Amino acid sequence: MTQAETSAGCPLCAACDAAVLWRDDFCRVVWVDDPDYPGYCRVILNAHVREMTDLPEDARQRLMAVVFATEGALREALQPDKVNLASLGNQVPHLHWHVIPRFRDDRHFPDPIWAMPRRPPRPPVDVDGLKPRLARTLAALLTPPE
Ligand SMILES: [Zn+2]
Repeated sequence: MTQAETSAGCPLCAACDAAVLWRDDFCRVVWVDDPDYPGYCRVILNAHVREMTDLPEDARQRLMAVVFATEGALREALQPDKVNLASLGNQVPHLHWHVIPRFRDDRHFPDPIWAMPRRPPRPPVDVDGLKPRLARTLAALLTPPE
């Protein structure tokens, strides 16, 4: 990234890569460690860009292709009742998409996960196998054949 593409103090420009499931030189897919929402992923543009319409058309499509691959990987692995896609950026104005598998009995359904909870937390699920499975599916969906 060039200097112009990063912003001092932005947590997504300074991200640690510990939870990265897939990445290239354009964007990355990270595991969000939320016990209420196993499988919750974030697709984060590497460059510090504020809005989708600040990106050239081909870059918008490239970013959304990664969002859709993430949605597909979550559907294959978890068969959620719904997948929520959200791009807010009010707190961190650096383009990122939330990709959240939702279930009818999750803490907030049918509200957004940022609403007041409707029910107590579900019992913890074993996610050890889920991360590598998502990483493998993303690699298969996003890596063009040689
Ligand atoms: Zn940033």
